Amino acid sequence: MQPDLSVSELVIRTSLGPDGAKLPDTRLRAILDLSPDELVEWLRTQDQAPFRAKQIRRWLIERRVTSFDQMTDLPAALRQQLAEHFRFSPFEVVGHQIAKDQTEKLLLRLHDGELVECVLMRDPDRRTVCISTQVGCAMGCVFCASGLLGVKRNLSPVEIFEQVLVLHRLMKDDERITNVVVMGIGEPLANYRALMESLTFLTAEDGFGLGARRITVSTVGLPDKIRELAQSGHQYNLAVSLHAPNDTLRTKIVPINRSIGLKEILAAADEYFEITGRRISYEYVLMSGINDRPEHAEELATLLRGRNAHVNLIPMNGVNELVMTAPRDPDTQQFLSILERRGVTATVRKRKGADIDAACGQLRLNRELS
Ligand code: SF4
Repeated sequence: MQPDLSVSELVIRTSLGPDGAKLPDTRLRAILDLSPDELVEWLRTQDQAPFRAKQIRRWLIERRVTSFDQMTDLPAALRQQLAEHFRFSPFEVVGHQIAKDQTEKLLLRLHDGELVECVLMRDPDRRTVCISTQVGCAMGCVFCASGLLGVKRNLSPVEIFEQVLVLHRLMKDDERITNVVVMGIGEPLANYRALMESLTFLTAEDGFGLGARRITVSTVGLPDKIRELAQSGHQYNLAVSLHAPNDTLRTKIVPINRSIGLKEILAAADEYFEITGRRISYEYVLMSGINDRPEHAEELATLLRGRNAHVNLIPMNGVNELVMTAPRDPDTQQFLSILERRGVTATVRKRKGADIDAACGQLRLNRELS
């Protein structure tokens, strides 16, 4: 099903617009790629006081400025030095869509010209940001625009956490990001080291300061990495993308499943729960006629019986290039009631940004194919 796209409702901004806006020098290092100690060290080389590091990081992380020039409590000479040595951000915003429900989606261009996306979703009591961890994805899930072009490279830590900051800077002064879901383009656990570094920044007191329990890492299920995450001592939430209740169907939907298998994934998720005490979420994208039949719901209930789990049912978002379609509402409701009747807690996720290219990777795909 195609989103009810109404271009007049969208705001689309681009730094490559008809005015030929000048881009920053992409050879420079992004300022937040420097650790606090590295920043102090750099300040020393510029004959600047070490205490300036805290001021600079405060502007970058907490305040909603978009250039060094706006850091008004820094001496003009230092602002100039910063602009000569660093990029303010590791990417340029080249696309910006705002949906009727105030969901905002950004298309970001990285220093090497590659594109990624991030999304801000607004609910009455929370502001959730969805971020990407790779350029493209190797997992090849059949319903997903991100996997259509394969994976090009991993994102660096600053390229991951800065997505949160760029959305934070777009928000109104009285709004704050309350939750982060690592569910955008890419398989987060396939870029484990950079993921962990970026989450450390997001949770650190001298970083973004978000509670670990407000962060959810979503995976198709890489058992070794799930175990490593469990042993890491953090309280991140884990979401496992299931999408099918048996291996035959799951391998068709999530091809990587062929070499792993549901049994191994569920065993690793069970260990995650035992070690962290965090209830596991199982994500299930419903596709009409493929995995949304009553027998699939019954089988899923049997699979998850006795586990401390929550199922998120996600009616598929339409993607032009794919043949799968969204489920019918009555089928979604029936699926939900079967799970509930069998004692499995489940919710249907509300569609966000239905009038923009809201499916994961769709904005990037449209730009790559145009
Ligand atoms: S759904 Fe996630 S894991 Fe699957 S191809 Fe898309 S980005 Fe990759």
